[in-house]
Amino acid sequence: MLTGLLSAAPAVTAYTQPRPFDGDSAFQHLEKQCSFGPRSPGGAGHQACLDWFVAYFRSLGLEPTLQRFTADDPRSDATFSLTNVIVPIRLGGEPPVMLCAHWDTRPVADRESDPTRRNLPIPGANDGASGVAVLLEIAGIAASDPSAPPLLIVLFDGEDIGREGHNSEYALGSRYWAKNITPQKPSEAILLDMIGDRELSIPVEGFSETMAPRLRRAFWESARATGSEAFSEEIGGFIEDDHVPLLKAGIPAIDVIDFDYPYWHTLADTPDKCSPESLRQVGEAILHYIYHRR
Ligand SMILES: [Zn+2]
Repeated sequence: MLTGLLSAAPAVTAYTQPRPFDGDSAFQHLEKQCSFGPRSPGGAGHQACLDWFVAYFRSLGLEPTLQRFTADDPRSDATFSLTNVIVPIRLGGEPPVMLCAHWDTRPVADRESDPTRRNLPIPGANDGASGVAVLLEIAGIAASDPSAPPLLIVLFDGEDIGREGHNSEYALGSRYWAKNITPQKPSEAILLDMIGDRELSIPVEGFSETMAPRLRRAFWESARATGSEAFSEEIGGFIEDDHVPLLKAGIPAIDVIDFDYPYWHTLADTPDKCSPESLRQVGEAILHYIYHRR
């Protein structure tokens, strides 16, 4: 019977994207983070930037939760106080889509050619600020849209304090959150990392394709639908990033990352290496995905 079939069909909520993604505004969020200096744990810029995040989200009418934890510095006897910033938007119904990025920056420029500069902290314009900048802009769009889909924005701390070759010292914020999931388990997660490169080209990351193939393909389709040329079907490497602890917790998760960045873990990772257009392409892909997914 037709009516029976209709009533058995799952409810589909239609969402309408209220406005395009503003790359210039997102770029200002990138520059603002960099204006605090390096945001490496224990530094003044780390605390100042955290305070600014809280003020920013509150200015949008959102209520961020700070998830605090500690970690040992792998290079000294120090213990760091770390903080994940968790921003729920319109939770309460269907499980949210999680959008995440790391906000901390690497305490050492260990890829500098000059060995005497390798102990200095990096500015982290691309590796740190870029993914967060896109999420801050999306928070603004979703916060002002009464019919926005449920979202869980999480800014992870402690992604980048590890020593090279010591994988267990990385991704501390996402490991902690995945063991202490709050406030609600998301249906899936999209991680942004190093997406600000002026010459943006995003291949398919290995763990994403292997462990969350449906989400990976659906997201790349969304990016294509927006006309973005930054997303390629080329298979890149397997990257131990913040999405891996999420995958281990049973959450389909993808890493949107352009790892081909000559200034990676150097003092030259500055805003001029990034562009509003790169942020726009990634931001628009996310908006298209969250407003059109079924
Ligand atoms: Zn890094």
